[in-house]
Amino acid sequence: MPHAAPASKRRRLIRLLLWGLGLAGLALCMWQTAQVAREQALQSLRQDAENELRLSAAGLTGHLSRHDYLPELLASREAVKRFLASPDSQDPMPLNRLLDRFRATADVSDIYLLDHHADTLAASNWHRPDTFIGQNYRYRRYYQEAIAGRNGRFFGLGVQSGERGYYFSAPVWLDETAPDARPDGVMVLKVLLNAVEDSWAEQDAELLVTGRDGVIFLASQPALRLTAMKPLGEAQRVALRASRRYGDEPLPPSGLREIEHRDERTRLVGFAQGPLAGQPYFSLTRPMPAFDWHMHILKPLTPVISAQWVSALLAGGLYGLVALGGGIGWQRLRLRRERERFAERERRTLARARDELERNVANRTRDLVATNRRLSDEIEERRRAEQSLRETRDELVQAAKLAVLGQLAAGINHELNQPLAAIRAYAENARAFIARSRAEAADANLGQIVELTGRMAEISAQLRQFSRKSGDTLTAVSVQSCFDYALRLFQARLSEGAIHIERRWPEQTAWVRADPVRLEQVLVNLIGNALQALAETSSPHLTLAIETTSERVSIEVADNGPGIPEDHLARIFEPFFTTKSTGSGLGLGLSISGRIIDDLGGRLEARNAPGGGARFTITLPRDSGPDGKRAQAKEQSHHA
Ligand code: ADP
Repeated sequence: MPHAAPASKRRRLIRLLLWGLGLAGLALCMWQTAQVAREQALQSLRQDAENELRLSAAGLTGHLSRHDYLPELLASREAVKRFLASPDSQDPMPLNRLLDRFRATADVSDIYLLDHHADTLAASNWHRPDTFIGQNYRYRRYYQEAIAGRNGRFFGLGVQSGERGYYFSAPVWLDETAPDARPDGVMVLKVLLNAVEDSWAEQDAELLVTGRDGVIFLASQPALRLTAMKPLGEAQRVALRASRRYGDEPLPPSGLREIEHRDERTRLVGFAQGPLAGQPYFSLTRPMPAFDWHMHILKPLTPVISAQWVSALLAGGLYGLVALGGGIGWQRLRLRRERERFAERERRTLARARDELERNVANRTRDLVATNRRLSDEIEERRRAEQSLRETRDELVQAAKLAVLGQLAAGINHELNQPLAAIRAYAENARAFIARSRAEAADANLGQIVELTGRMAEISAQLRQFSRKSGDTLTAVSVQSCFDYALRLFQARLSEGAIHIERRWPEQTAWVRADPVRLEQVLVNLIGNALQALAETSSPHLTLAIETTSERVSIEVADNGPGIPEDHLARIFEPFFTTKSTGSGLGLGLSISGRIIDDLGGRLEARNAPGGGARFTITLPRDSGPDGKRAQAKEQSHHA
């Protein structure tokens, strides 16, 4: 099949293409949905982060700001000013105690007083070994700002404690009224930030606070504290070391890397190492200008990712459903189209079969018509053949009659010659008597002549009757009179041969429905055959019998001649079967007789009689006789 291979190949290619398109569509749909879901999740995450960040920033601001008035307040205290006026001549202990009291009340880390050289004169931690007293903080920003006449702020590691703190400072004036007065000292307050960080630990987000230098100063995650957001350059390190803000801390890189920059304040980040590694975060930044800080919140991207996946899977499922529906619809469409095609094919096949059938029927009809015509022709031919057969048979019957006539001729000859000779003798006698004028004697002789001519006329009439052709109409025929007629034909031979004739028939006339001429002919044949058979018999005996039942009449002609040899019995009805010499038999008599009896609706049978001789039996339907007919006819006309 050279066409099938490329067709199926093309179909497979199309199916592959469709699958590819479907899968690409699925991927696109899932990706697009995931993108949208991600954007939405990021939006809501951003909102949450924004809120949390604002709150946390507010918390931190609150935590620190409530102390920023305190240095100024303390700076204005008389005791402070008095001490600062002549520190060397006074006992610092009262001031130390005062500062410690304030520290405890305000719940801050430390409070201390610097002179205008930045040397620490008094401190709340006067009693601790690492006390600030005697330390110089000239390098600190809070000192520099305050000595310049402003309130100062600073964050950094404590030089003594190494702890992270926020510092508030205020200038101390002995005399503020002078126009060009310069501060005489600086009051400093240090707040520790651990408590704020601790409060962040409960949140499910990470909080970071960075300085302008990018160092993470505060972090909810301890490992991130005092690390650099971005790795620090050498110049930066040198500058930081100089500022001593972070003491000798190594400030390693935090490991944070930006995954995606979204805008000024938001980005997605991850960590290369540390406890936050292995997970992406959404990062939102908020400036805290009052503290020169930036606060960052890092929220895990987990909800975004799961929203992304859930939406993608949902979209995929929906796409699958739609595709499945589409596929099923398409399949059904294809199936229907296939079914229609099949039905069309079926219809065409049926139509073809019907056409063929019609053609066959037409052919068959033509054949049948031809056969019918042939049959009618044959019937016609047979009818003609039967007609000619009938004619031939009639001719044969006639011929057989003539044959019988031939047989009879001898007898007839004798029959006619004898009276002729007698008539001649009587006539000569009459002439002799007339010559002698013996009128009576002459009259007696003439009387004999009249009688003899009458007898001759009778014989002639009988012969005429025998040779006449039969009619086609059947009438009621008396079997007895038929026998009488036949016997009369053979009268001469019968008297000659001294044949004893036994008539075994009833008084009452036996009527059969027949053509009298033909029935007579049959009887003449049978009697003729019997007489021929009896020619050599010593005491010849001929039996003629009639028996009637309600339906039938059986007629029997039997002789005591030699009979018929067994092997001839089956053949004697065949035409031209004869055992007689040429001239005395044609072999037609029995065959014609059989046909005649058949035509009359009867049967002709031959047998050998038990006591020797042949016995022929004719069986014919019985007839009610001419009276019955007449009675019936009368009855019918009466009814009419
Ligand atoms: P045919 O008398 O001309 O021979 P049939 O047809 O009348 O022809 O008879 C056929 C044959 O049947 C006869 O030749 C004879 O052998 C046999 N046959 C007929 N009638 C008798 C009979 N009564 N007795 C013995 N043989 C007979």
